Amino acid sequence: PVFGRFPDFPHEQVTFCQDPETGLRAIIAIHDSTLGPAVGGTRFHPYASEAEALTDVLRLSRGMTYKNAVAGLPCGGAKAVIIGDPDTIKSEALLETYGRFVQSLGGRYVTAGDVGISAADLDVIGRGTDHVLGRTTTAGGYGDSGPMTAYGAFHALRAAAAVRWGTAELAGRTVGVEGLGKVGYELVRLLVEAGATVTAADISAPARERVRRELPAVLLAERVIDAPVDIYAPCALGATLTSDSVPTIHAAVVCGAANNQLATPEVEQQLVERDILWVPDFVASAGGVTTGSAEYRRIPLEEVPAQVAKIFDTVTEVLDLARRQGILPGAAAEDLAHNRIQQARTGLKPG
Ligand code: NAD
Repeated sequence: PVFGRFPDFPHEQVTFCQDPETGLRAIIAIHDSTLGPAVGGTRFHPYASEAEALTDVLRLSRGMTYKNAVAGLPCGGAKAVIIGDPDTIKSEALLETYGRFVQSLGGRYVTAGDVGISAADLDVIGRGTDHVLGRTTTAGGYGDSGPMTAYGAFHALRAAAAVRWGTAELAGRTVGVEGLGKVGYELVRLLVEAGATVTAADISAPARERVRRELPAVLLAERVIDAPVDIYAPCALGATLTSDSVPTIHAAVVCGAANNQLATPEVEQQLVERDILWVPDFVASAGGVTTGSAEYRRIPLEEVPAQVAKIFDTVTEVLDLARRQGILPGAAAEDLAHNRIQQARTGLKPG
């Protein structure tokens, strides 16, 4: 639904991969490689049909082009999907075979993790290809991207607070964090450390238990989307912002790492009408891919947090552009990404 403003911006290459011996069926979609090798994770999911998988990979790869471009990374956008239930068909042979398909693209596509693919799986994929990011640190990778995604979302929150309230200071603010997984847990930890008052929700009992044990200052709630907080931070699944849920939001800022937060594009206008400042998800959640890009360029791991913290400036720029031009933040972020790619295409320095 998002990224619909530039229909003249089609996919470069879509590759179907099959290996009957291991049961591998995968689709790799390279959307755009103008800015560099196309980077994006591999999702392992039990799609109901090949058509459904294709729709998802085309949509996700396009989103990666925008996410990477707006984050200022020298990377194009791509994504891959493996069709099947990871709990039943995932095997080392299948993952290694998949790695060889990635290798056959000669580095035009660089893979990483996503839903259903862990850092340990990427180690196995890496037996078949050199073009893999996010392997375990033992295997020479930069590990799971969740913590850096959270760190980026934290800086996105600070930037949004500065626009909304004139200060990036989060001490004393109330924040509702939805989802306490790899990203949400770490975001909660950072917020507590910064002096914010956090309410959090997760449908998983072990995830809640961990927070109760390790971060006792956090208030656990059934749900946070309609909680009386300053900021709502979606960090679970996407599509929580719907025409029904937006009227129930008390927060003045919505900013989190969950992908595809808007159920439909019209919802963004509804947020504006309620004077809720929304940070586009593909801007706030770029910490993971920023880490991947740093790994690709062999930027030392200790320098990665400073790179990720630049999300503060990107969010500021996007929100400023939206305000000056009287357009929605999502459109401003898309314009920024699109301009960077067009400038690169016409030989001008992207900037
Ligand atoms: P995760 O699977 O580790 O955690 C998600 C958590 O959300 C789980 O604990 C789950 O129980 C919980 N959850 C699911 N439905 C819920 C609901 N209705 N209400 C409350 N909690 C619910 O995933 P993650 O890696 O933490 O990613 C979180 C989100 O951020 C996803 O949307 C993901 O696409 C996005 N994201 C992640 C990364 C990354 O580097 N991990 C990068 C960019 C974007």
